[in-house]
Amino acid sequence: MSSDAPPTHITLGSGALTLQWPDGQTDRLPAAALRRHCRCADCRSATLRSHAPAVTDEVRLANATPVGHYALQLHFSDNHERGIYPWAHLREIAQTECY
Ligand SMILES: [Zn+2]
Repeated sequence: MSSDAPPTHITLGSGALTLQWPDGQTDRLPAAALRRHCRCADCRSATLRSHAPAVTDEVRLANATPVGHYALQLHFSDNHERGIYPWAHLREIAQTECY
């Protein structure tokens, strides 16, 4: 199965996003981990200047908006809402964070 297949089920909680994949795997992605892995222009340039975006573990998910069939746009409680997370990126975060 290709790694960019969309999840079969998405559960948005304030503290974590839970994704169920067509292969039966379930990933629980904490809000702070998602926020740290944001790849929007702002966060990327902050990383390039070698200071990671300031993220506290208290950050919460406020909303998630589907972007076509390939990604989710996540809105965080710190008013950050520019991050687009393609499915493959979400799976990558799940592997990196070891959940
Ligand atoms: Zn960002």
